[in-house]
Amino acid sequence: MKFAAFSAIALPALVSAHGIRDVHHARQAPVAAAASAGTSSAAAPASGTASAATGVATAPVASGAGSLTFTLASTNPTAIPLTEIASGMSSAPTVPASTTFASGTTPTFLPNAPPLPNALSLNPANYPALDKTPPTDSPEVQQWKQEVANSGVQIPDIAPTVAGGCPANLEAANDQSRCWWTCGGCSAPDDIEQCPDKMTWGLTYDDGPAPHTGDLLAYLDQVNLKATFFIVGSRAISYPALLQEEYMAQHQIAVHTWSHPEMTTLTNDQIIAELGWSKKIIKDVLGVTPTYWRPPYGDVDNRVRAIAKAMGLQTSIWTRIGPTATFDTGDFDIAGGLTTSTQVLNNWEAIIGNATTIDHGFIVLEHDLFQQSVDIAVDYILPDALAHQPPFKIEPIVSCLNKPLRDAYIETNDNSSNPIGANATGSASSAEASGNSSGASANGKNSAMGIAAPNSMGAIALAIVSGVVALFL
Ligand SMILES: [Zn+2]
Repeated sequence: MKFAAFSAIALPALVSAHGIRDVHHARQAPVAAAASAGTSSAAAPASGTASAATGVATAPVASGAGSLTFTLASTNPTAIPLTEIASGMSSAPTVPASTTFASGTTPTFLPNAPPLPNALSLNPANYPALDKTPPTDSPEVQQWKQEVANSGVQIPDIAPTVAGGCPANLEAANDQSRCWWTCGGCSAPDDIEQCPDKMTWGLTYDDGPAPHTGDLLAYLDQVNLKATFFIVGSRAISYPALLQEEYMAQHQIAVHTWSHPEMTTLTNDQIIAELGWSKKIIKDVLGVTPTYWRPPYGDVDNRVRAIAKAMGLQTSIWTRIGPTATFDTGDFDIAGGLTTSTQVLNNWEAIIGNATTIDHGFIVLEHDLFQQSVDIAVDYILPDALAHQPPFKIEPIVSCLNKPLRDAYIETNDNSSNPIGANATGSASSAEASGNSSGASANGKNSAMGIAAPNSMGAIALAIVSGVVALFL
């Protein structure tokens, strides 16, 4: 059904391709609260404002997905009504980038952190074009290629996948030696998909920094939470002050590629260019280089894993406890009109329902690119999570792995206790399927997964920049 939409409405179809879509319907069934929620819900809201969210949730929703019901433990007292968090909503950020840190300011929260560079002196002309996979013939990429070759990491000799997602790559999806996470559900031993400790949430936001990131940062500061931000290089060059604000607030900064492509479709050199330029822009803005990255769409196989490892990047995805139970809120799709905020909260309730039953912690996919996803996070998801009983421990990925924040950056990492890159233990090239299903039924599910054409994310981001962001500058 999604593929038909490609020709009809380009932008929503591309937005839909951001994540795994068909899991949402399957996730609704196991929601424990769904059975009890409703007008006679036994789960009493913890605050008066929560009843408003419950009321909205129990109203009929024309999603075709059946009854959507949930009960939130709490919401933000200043929450935007759920019905207003929708495609087409438009308002200025309430919290713009508040602080411009002086060049030379030294972070005191990281031992041996370099002083902050002057982010305002960045010249975009010194970087690749935004939202396109960078050229591979530049001196920078040639140097990074050499470093990968010298790393000692064996890069598996497997072909890139072709555009069209899982249905166009059935052989690759079934190839366990490739170990393709997005298509086939294979995890490698080094993949970070969860936090080890039960009831611990590795809090993450992808695709920024963006105009409403300041709203998110303000709320996180207010409730004293730290998160991991997976940064798109093309956004970092547009919003360096926001990136510095994230870093100086002691959030974890990590890589999310330069232009947000499906990484398994790229050549080795293109993968190196995507990761290399992302590392470089973050170092040029912050003075430090991340040691963690997240593949856009979760699109990673053993070739991509190995190149990332050779470049000192730890692959981090999000929690999946079965082919149809992925910890993806679906928040990215509100802006494109492909889902509703009510559906996202239903997804969220399914996630925390699952989170309380598994014997380990979890990582959830959320975004700070759009106002809608920021609003639903600060107004509904985070207040609900903070009021949850028993309580969740909410922290960045590096922290949930019981490592210090300094391990998140090459310049401050203690390589003896946290070896990264070529010296790391384990092998990204050794395929090992996790317990996740990867058989025919999983592929059947996967046939509905949308994987966008290369640079579709860039097209969306460019549309944002030209159509909305410019109004706020
Ligand atoms: Zn992303």
